[in-house]
Amino acid sequence: MLANGRFYFSGHRLRQARTGLVLLCASRPLLESHVRARVQAIPNLRLLDSCDVLGLAATPDGRRVTGARVLRRADGSAEELLGADLVVDATGRGSRIPIWLQALGYAPPDEEQVRIGLGYATRIYRLPPDALDGDLGVLQAATPQHPRTGALLLLEGDRWMLTLAGILGDHPPTDPDGFLDFVRSLQVPDIYEAVRDAEPLDDPVAFRFPASVRHRYEKLDRFPDGLLVVGDAVASFNPIYGQGMSVAALEALTLRRHLERGMEPQPRRFLGDLARVVDVPWDMAAGGDLVFPGVEGRRTAKVRLVSAYLARLHAAAAHDAHLATAFLRVAGLVAPPQSLLRPGVALRVLRGSLSPATAARGRLQHRDGARPART
Ligand SMILES: Cc1cc2nc3c(=O)[nH]c(=O)nc-3n(C[C@H](O)[C@H](O)[C@H](O)COP(=O)(O)OP(=O)(O)OC[C@H]3O[C@@H](n4cnc5c(N)ncnc54)[C@H](O)[C@@H]3O)c2cc1C
Repeated sequence: MLANGRFYFSGHRLRQARTGLVLLCASRPLLESHVRARVQAIPNLRLLDSCDVLGLAATPDGRRVTGARVLRRADGSAEELLGADLVVDATGRGSRIPIWLQALGYAPPDEEQVRIGLGYATRIYRLPPDALDGDLGVLQAATPQHPRTGALLLLEGDRWMLTLAGILGDHPPTDPDGFLDFVRSLQVPDIYEAVRDAEPLDDPVAFRFPASVRHRYEKLDRFPDGLLVVGDAVASFNPIYGQGMSVAALEALTLRRHLERGMEPQPRRFLGDLARVVDVPWDMAAGGDLVFPGVEGRRTAKVRLVSAYLARLHAAAAHDAHLATAFLRVAGLVAPPQSLLRPGVALRVLRGSLSPATAARGRLQHRDGARPART
């Protein structure tokens, strides 16, 4: 992953090295078509395409969910009832479970938000295979001093996807000139140099993400039997951290563990376990967003300490492949954040970030074209 990728964090380019982690460069349609094909191959599974779930069905006292009310997207179709022993809501960020719970006489969950006011714009390019001198991608993460993000990644079919993002209303334009100006304004020149004369294959497409949202289902005193909630329907993270699918996969493993017990999963126990899965990536995303002064939220001592430590770690990781790997393992949810506080790691951070040479060599200078060495 790191061996073929350029990662810029806190204004420092992580030292390139073999990490043992694999970064799959694929478009969302390709990834989702593979997932769908694998799901369809499960023998006792039936997919109902082109249907809208209108609501839940429940026992008269509302204590048990017994199915879902569904409408097929076809002329003349009428509402149908799909009976179920267990309903799992995975309808994403727009999930209506809080409203449907209220209709059944339950309180809605508390909602936490971190308002980042993110704007995305994405465009696909045709680039020569060596556009990045053999690297497969560049990610330049925003910093408080340069709060704009750019990511250029190789996709299947020799296409490259460029995503730009800005926060708190500083959104990338979708007209071609404005889009390219935004690329030029990034903190590092790598992406601009790669795409400035390249052939775009489409027009920039915009996407808005006002806030990360977490529903605290695990804190509810009452919850109906026969109903679970997973994925973005529980917590939807600022997509810039690329965690949503990994978290959804970890949650699916949690669901499998509960189902393997051979009994109907208990919603409150399941939602409690899910909250433990969500805690770490939520703290990482919320803490990452709170680094930006304009983002509203409580900056606890822990949040301030973690962000100061990470900035030092990034500086040291510009020259220390061990630290760069440790950081990417945590960012990829492969290792727990506590692994970055182990004495061996903390010592390297301290040594690396105190060295004046580190600061001087590692820090980016806009458009200096410097290419840190690979190991
Ligand atoms: C711009 C952007 C970039 C992202 N980049 C990354 C990334 O790089 N890495 C990463 O890990 N994550 C990324 N994410 C996050 C990731 O997309 C989500 O976390 C993930 O898709 C959540 O999966 P989900 O199944 O919970 O919800 P979704 O993928 O949103 O799926 C919900 C599905 O339910 C359907 N649905 C909704 N309501 C109904 C209804 N009433 N009836 C029937 N169907 C319904 C929807 O049509 C949809 O198909 C990104 C998100 C965005 C917005």
